Formats: sequence, C-alpha cells, structure tokens
Amino acid sequence: MSSSSPHQGEPILGIDLGTTNSLVGVVDSGFPILLADADGQRLTPSAVLFPAVEGDPIVVGREALRARAAQPGRVITSSKRLIGRRVGEGAETDSSFATSGEVGQPVQIDLGNRSVFPEDVAAEILRHLKTVAEERIESSVSKAVVTVPAYFNDAQRNATKRAGEKAGLEVVRIVNEPTAAALAYGLDRLDDRSRVAVYDLGGGTFDISVLELSDGVFKVEATHGDTSLGGDDIDHALAGWLWDQAGETTRWSEAPAEVAVRFIQAAESVKVALSESEEHEVRMPFYRPDASFEVTVTREQLEQVARPIVDRTRRPCAMVLADAGIEASDLDAVVLVGGSTRMPLVRKLVEEIFGRLPDISQHPDEAVALGAVIQGGILSGTLQQMVLLDVTPLSLGIETFGGLMNVILPRNTTIPAKAGEMFTNAVAGQRDMAIHILQGEREIAGDNWTLGQVDVPFTPGPKGSARVGVQFAIDENGILEVLCRNTDTNEDHILEIRDSAVDVEDEKVEAMISESVEHAFDDMGERIWTEARLKAEELLPAVDQALAAVGDRMTECESKAIRDTAAAVREQLDATSHDANALKAVVADLDAATQDLAVILVEKAMEDAGD
Ligand code: AMP
Repeated sequence: MSSSSPHQGEPILGIDLGTTNSLVGVVDSGFPILLADADGQRLTPSAVLFPAVEGDPIVVGREALRARAAQPGRVITSSKRLIGRRVGEGAETDSSFATSGEVGQPVQIDLGNRSVFPEDVAAEILRHLKTVAEERIESSVSKAVVTVPAYFNDAQRNATKRAGEKAGLEVVRIVNEPTAAALAYGLDRLDDRSRVAVYDLGGGTFDISVLELSDGVFKVEATHGDTSLGGDDIDHALAGWLWDQAGETTRWSEAPAEVAVRFIQAAESVKVALSESEEHEVRMPFYRPDASFEVTVTREQLEQVARPIVDRTRRPCAMVLADAGIEASDLDAVVLVGGSTRMPLVRKLVEEIFGRLPDISQHPDEAVALGAVIQGGILSGTLQQMVLLDVTPLSLGIETFGGLMNVILPRNTTIPAKAGEMFTNAVAGQRDMAIHILQGEREIAGDNWTLGQVDVPFTPGPKGSARVGVQFAIDENGILEVLCRNTDTNEDHILEIRDSAVDVEDEKVEAMISESVEHAFDDMGERIWTEARLKAEELLPAVDQALAAVGDRMTECESKAIRDTAAAVREQLDATSHDANALKAVVADLDAATQDLAVILVEKAMEDAGD
C-alpha cells in the first residue's frame, strides 16, 4: 500500500490453500490474476500422492487423484483438516485416512511404511503451486500470502506458515479466508465502517463471518461454522434417495462400497445440473450386473432432500450476528463463496436468513484466492489500493423558470462530487418553488428525465426576494442527495435519489446523447428564444412605465424609436416562427433603449429633487 513496504517490487503470490482445491495467482500488469497450470486448469485438487518407494517423485493435484484407485492409502486428501492439530483433539475422526502419534503430539498421517505431518502435505501442494506460478510468469518467486479459515488457531496458522517455508516460500501474511473474499468483493464498493457477512458453503465445510471495514482494513468481528457440513452431505443424502428410487430394498448405508461411490457421483452431477435446470435425468446402467436405473429428478425433489442440510447453516448465522452484536439489517452486503452457494436453494435460504439478496458477484471458487492475490499485490506495491472512479453518465440539474434545464453536475463528473447554485423566485408573490430534478443532455427540461421533485415553501414577496440554495452531492455509492435550503429560514429540504443518478443502462445513455446531438441546433435555438422571451417579458412593462414617467424630457422622435423597438419585440414574441436570433436582437435593442431611459429618469429625479 505504501512505498515503504518491505516487499516493494517483488511479486508476492496469493494462495488459497483449500481443503479440496487450491489456487494460486499474482498481480500482473496491475491486475490480480489467477494462474492456470499446463493443462489450463486453475483449480488444483489438494491431493498428494506419496509413492510407496521412497525417492520416487511425489505427485500433486489431478494426477494424484487419478492414482487413488491404483495406490489406495498413499493419496492424501483433505489434510487441511489435520494441519496444526494434536493427537487427542478429535481431529483424527475428521480424516478419512489412518493417523498416528502420541496423545498431545502433532497428528501424523500413516502411509504404511512411513508417516508424514499434515504440514508436509500442505508443503507439497504449495511447492506445486509455486512451480505452476513460476512457469506462468517466467520468473522465480519466494513470497506468498496464504489464506486460512478464520477459526484457525495459532498452531494451525503456524503450521501453515511452516508448510510455506518447507516449500521455499516465505509466508509474508496469513489472511483469513472471509477477509480475502471481502477484499475480492472490493474495498471500493464499501464505505468505511461497512459490515459484510461472508457465507462460505463448500464441499465439506461451512463458515459464516461478519467483517467490519475500518480505515481500509477488514477485521473479522465474529465467525462461526460447521467443519462437517457442505455439498458432500447433500450428495450423500441425494444418493440415498436415488438408492430408494432404484427400488433397492437394502438400506443405503449397507450398499456395497463401489456401488455407493457411483450413486454419490451421480448424485453430485445431478445436483450440479439442477443449479441451472429445473429437471435432470440420471442414468445408471448396470450399477450392478443385474440392475440398471433411470430417473428424472426435479429441482423441487433435490430441494426437499437438501433442505434439512442447508437449514443447518441457520444456527451459525444467528450466532455470528449475536456475537457481532448486530442485526441482519446492519449488514451492508452478504457475499457468497464456496461451490455450494451456486445452488438456488442456498441463495434462497441466505435471503431468508439475512432479509436481503446475497451478493453473487464473486466467483464462488475463486474469490478467496483472488483476495489473497490482491493482498499480495498491496503488500508488494504492485497493486495500488483499488479505487474505482465512477462518473455521472448524464448531466444532472434542475428545471429553471421558462422550462429550461439548468445543469448542476455536468455529464462525466467524477464521483464523489458536490456542486450547488442559488435560485430565486421569478414571480412576485410566489409561495413556493418546485425544484424539479432532472437528468439528461437536452436544453428543454421536458425532454430530460425526471428524478424527483422538492417543494420549498417561502414567504411571498417581490420577484427576486426569495433565496433557495440547491446543492447536489453524489457519494461514492452513486447516491444523489439534493439539498434545498431556504436561506432566509435556513430550513432544509432533502431528497435522496438512489442509483438512478449513476446507474443508467448504456443504451439509454447512448440514446439520450445521440438525441441531444441530433436536436442540438433546435434545442439551442429553443434555449436562446426562451431566455430572450423571459428577458422581453421583464423589459416590456419596465419600458412602458419609464416612457410614461419621462414625459416630455424625450423628443417625440426618441420615444417613438423606443416604442417601435418594443413593438418589434412584441411582434417577434407573437410570431409563430420562433426566430430565436431575431428575438434576441430586438431584445438587445430594447435593453439598450432602457439604459437610455434609465439615465433620463435619473436626471429627472435629480432635477425634481432640486426644484
Ligand atoms: P468448494 O469446497 O468451495 O470447492 O465447493 C465444492 C462443493 O460445491 C461440492 O460439494 C460441489 O458439488 C459443489 N458445487 C460445485 N458447483 C456446484 C453447482 N453448480 N451447484 C451445486 N453445487 C455445486
């Protein structure tokens, strides 16, 4: 962030070291990007094959997963569940492979002929990601930001750091996963002291965190979750339901292992498909030598099976709000991450829990990694703190007397912005002023779009006696606040206009601009004509009065000239042709004539006073 950063200039990798999948990225040419491996894949399964023969190469990722059938027990997955844990803490039951070690000592993973620490598994994954990154960016790297769940304790964080060191990476910062997701969501979209909830439902874990943004830094205020709740549970439940649909009479829990695996795979693929479509066909030919099965599953059926599982996220959500001491309505955004948040059911539930539409702008699998990359970029100084400068797509203003557009914030003004003007009453005895707020590029108020209206009352008085200050202020969220102040009474009238001042569809902006170009000539003529008309309407009665007052101080010839000019003005006003320039010219003559009249009137007044 600052130029005094100790990591200035060196690329810092951002790594999401996930339970099932991991990702790596870096800031390149000022942009945070995630890096793909030689197969073009950004997601690397967090799986490591430790070969039976020591000295044979250790394999990471998809290749390791593929080797699982051939070398069972040697491919370690989900080791993140064990990192930094000690025997006796209960973590062993979380793992699907054999563990060893004495009570109170760090958990070890049993590989038959040897054992490894979970951080050794993490180190292999990190080493692999480092290589992927170095190949992509064609330069060596030695530093990384690594994400961990918010609930990780010191031992788990330190073990993750050590894993980095073993992989040849200095872990310059450990970042909480929800913090990374919030960073990806964008500092620029939030005001200081904003609160964000990050709802992360993955394959095997659920986390809910509330963060507060303060001085540009996110702080985790509270976090809850369930380390054994996720999409995998839905797959199992749906597989059991399919088992029953297939007419199997034995219990699902008693299904032979290899058949169960096929049902679980089928369940996952139908679950994924039903995030997009309303129904999906499952085909299971010869899942047993004498049995095949086909069924169409609807989204509603899936939701019935999944609902009790997804409902289990409610309690942690309620607890996190209670711990943070806030209500759901205090949140400024609810950000969804994790693969399972692609399910419409999950989105509906989150909306129910928090009473607002969740934000789905983030890629559910990549947000955390992207946040780590952004943090790395900020630390290395390759990414300036992101501030998105938005602009007003169209001019904003108010209607003035005569039906003209008076622009206060011109089109393309960078926001936040503030500008104002004073207005007065055009007619004596007026009781209020209607401030009509407009958006658009046309000269005539009626051709622009109305955003709102504020009525400012005032004590009736002569023309020009009232004073109303109008101020337009747009904040960084694009919210326009129109403040109208009666400067006599200091009474304020405020209208807040959300979104519409800045959020306008591109096509509409283009249409407005092209119309204004197309009508530019006519519009300008109309403005000149209106302005000249207003001036004429002000001058004509004044001229009549003055002519009557000067009496014989003016020769007949002189006063006739003025009367003729006034008549010419009236003629232009009545003409249907609306010749703006002609009217403007005669009004200018009349204006000059009133100057002469004013001089004579002053002389007369002085002489009268001297009599
Ligand atoms: P993660 O741990 O965040 O990688 O999430 C993995 C989980 O997301 C798995 O249970 C997947 O089945 C699930 N998942 C991925 N894509 C979808 C989808 N389109 N609809 C429903 N679940 C999905």
